[in-house]
Amino acid sequence: MPQQNYLIKKALLSDGWAENVRLSVSDDGFISGLSKNANAEPGDQRLGIVIPGLVNCHSHAFQRAMAGLTEYQVSSADTFWSWRKTMYRFANLVSPEALQDIASYLYVEMIKQGYTSVAEFHYLHHQTNGTAYSSVSQLSQSIINAANIAGINLTLLPVLYMNSGFGDLALLDDQKRFGNSVESYLALHDEATRYCSEQNQHSVGMALHSLRAVPAKPMSEVISHFNRMGNQGPIHIHIAEQTQEVEQSIKALGKRPVEWLLDNHPIDKQWCLIHATHMTSEETAGVAKSGATVGICPTTEANLGDGLFPLREYLDHGGHIAIGSDGNTCTNPLEELRWLEYGQRLLSRTRNIAANDRERHTGSSLLGQCLTGGARSIGKNTGTLKVGYRADLLVLDEHSADLSGIAKEFVVDTLVFGSSHSLIKSVMINGAWQITDFHHANELQIKEKFISATRELRSQDAS
Ligand SMILES: [Zn+2]
Repeated sequence: MPQQNYLIKKALLSDGWAENVRLSVSDDGFISGLSKNANAEPGDQRLGIVIPGLVNCHSHAFQRAMAGLTEYQVSSADTFWSWRKTMYRFANLVSPEALQDIASYLYVEMIKQGYTSVAEFHYLHHQTNGTAYSSVSQLSQSIINAANIAGINLTLLPVLYMNSGFGDLALLDDQKRFGNSVESYLALHDEATRYCSEQNQHSVGMALHSLRAVPAKPMSEVISHFNRMGNQGPIHIHIAEQTQEVEQSIKALGKRPVEWLLDNHPIDKQWCLIHATHMTSEETAGVAKSGATVGICPTTEANLGDGLFPLREYLDHGGHIAIGSDGNTCTNPLEELRWLEYGQRLLSRTRNIAANDRERHTGSSLLGQCLTGGARSIGKNTGTLKVGYRADLLVLDEHSADLSGIAKEFVVDTLVFGSSHSLIKSVMINGAWQITDFHHANELQIKEKFISATRELRSQDAS
């Protein structure tokens, strides 16, 4: 692809809105030139309002197939743990082909709504009885193929999952396809990395499912192995999502999960702590000071009844945040931002919690923090329109009823809080247009495959 040049009417840069921005994109998909108050040159293409694309820091792709199918009462005390039974039933019905078709459709949905990168926290590894596929990274390959089909940047996070609970409890039958020893995990990771390295915009990090699923010793072994190999990729872990998990951690490890992690590992910017919902003030300050990112998944945390993240306190300590779609009942990053703020408003009975002295506009503040935090969570140069960064950007529908006549300071607030319609007209990822005029080139075919892949899954669940 030859170099492309654009003249943008209004662009959201790292230091705020700028006008008449001339942006050049190199043939390898990076921003190679950017100047403000520029004049168009011959051959420049014109764009209206442009903002950077977002990173989805936490997804379980297969769960998209069960969206809407757990919203009925099984008992009067339904919790995360009763939801998990249904989720496991789905997890054990998904074939490599179905996973690819489900993830392809999901990733197209994500792109259309503003995500340009996704970190897939991938723990489906084997056949349902726990036997490895002939290619041990078969299901990781389904995810990588899906990212290619949709055109999204992927950070694959193969998950180490060993136990069903604290105290080295053996995996349950319906967790068998998640399980690995340290040795088999590293072999799977190697094979997935080799497969991924053929596609240069993707990368592989690592994930530890949780403290309850990975004992202390293997956790240290795997982290040491990656350190020895000089692997600086992201490390993600589910942590302190549920109060039951906190209680069990105190019983088994003598400490709360976040407290234990901070005391036992040198947590830094390489780490992304998913949820971190239940923290004391000391833990909240400790995570913020560590330089790690917290991956908050507001709609999933609401859906599962997890609880609310201590946002204001954490931001006051200078903490980094990113957002994730997690269970994929919602694939819209703007809705995640809206609910992140709304949860806090409902709790505190005040408004504009995520705004601060530097940025008084709540939507802009949330978006700005999640753009930089999202990039940090995957260790990539994205989320900012800047030379040397990936050309991942969203073109807004400047002629929509919602954005017409809006002063630039209110554009992002309107996106987050002021519209239920999609205002994202086109999406560029790695310098390639994946969405133009609200459409993905292959979306009909991808949707058909999703429908056939899920037809059987969904009817099996209903029976
Ligand atoms: Zn998760």
